[in-house]
Amino acid sequence: MKKVTILIPCYNEEASLPALHDALISLMDSQPNYTWEILFVNDGSRDGTLDILRELHTTDHRFCFVSLSRNFGKECAMLSGFDHAKGDCLVIMDADLQHPPMLISEMLRYWEDGYEDIYAKRKVRGKESLWKKKTARLYYRLLQHTTRLDILPDVGDFRLLDRKCIDVMKNLRESERNTKALFAWIGFKKKEILFEPQDRVAGETKWNLSNLINLAIDGITSFTTLPLRLATIIGLFVSTGAFIYIIAILIKTIFLGESVKGFPTLMVTILFLGGIQFLALGIIGEYLGKIFNESKNRPIYVVSEYEGE
Ligand code: UDP
Ligand code: MG
Repeated sequence: MKKVTILIPCYNEEASLPALHDALISLMDSQPNYTWEILFVNDGSRDGTLDILRELHTTDHRFCFVSLSRNFGKECAMLSGFDHAKGDCLVIMDADLQHPPMLISEMLRYWEDGYEDIYAKRKVRGKESLWKKKTARLYYRLLQHTTRLDILPDVGDFRLLDRKCIDVMKNLRESERNTKALFAWIGFKKKEILFEPQDRVAGETKWNLSNLINLAIDGITSFTTLPLRLATIIGLFVSTGAFIYIIAILIKTIFLGESVKGFPTLMVTILFLGGIQFLALGIIGEYLGKIFNESKNRPIYVVSEYEGE
């Protein structure tokens, strides 16, 4: 029988786990033709999540868990799941039941049909503020245009991956991870299915504005060097303009003599050039920081406890 791994990153999810457990049990009962490995990743939760996971494992050995030594973030938690998964395919889902587990049956059907990466696209975005919706849309447009990768809006991490895809994902060990873009990068035979996102069963979302801004900047800087190119182009334009202006000033001084006037022009020029230079430095800095982080070559997560089958 084929084995299906369900990977569930959990960070402070004690409140959602009981409902999730029930939903998974009924999913597994409805699909008797597979063996199951429910692989939770405890991403350094500060509540009772780990205790619940230990308990689940002792009562039912299909429930396994990897516990990380601290909170590494969902992206790293997912990688630890890829590393520990034993299934022939793997489904990633959230612990808060925003991803309806019953959709997994549909994913499995497509998997049997030969698709290798079946991803669920939200029909509507859930109860989110207008601001979050607008910024998300803008972000995806930017990402698609700059990276030349098909990074799709409204597609989260809820997806089924074939073993082939998992093995590739395991090899992508960059420390600043944008898993969604990596899914686009790996390619393979993809299939889109639609779903209605549910509201969180319990607890609160862990995302805040600064997380999202960081993720957005990382998303762009880890997949394209276009900002660097942009800095070069802006630099080219500005220096051409500056050069023309220098000639104009020289000619004017030679023929009309020197004048002390021109303070506003001077200030505007200095401030403008200063601004552009800082921008370019900032962009270079972003990439330099990335190289710095990668070059340390630290492990992406640290496991403190693992209970497999
Ligand atoms: N999560 C995690 N580590 C984190 C933040 C979140 O493992 O640092 C997990 C969380 O427990 C949940 C999933 O990632 O299972 C999605 O998180 P959340 O529901 O907070 O995000 P949202 O659905 O609001 O985008
Ligand atoms: Mg959620």
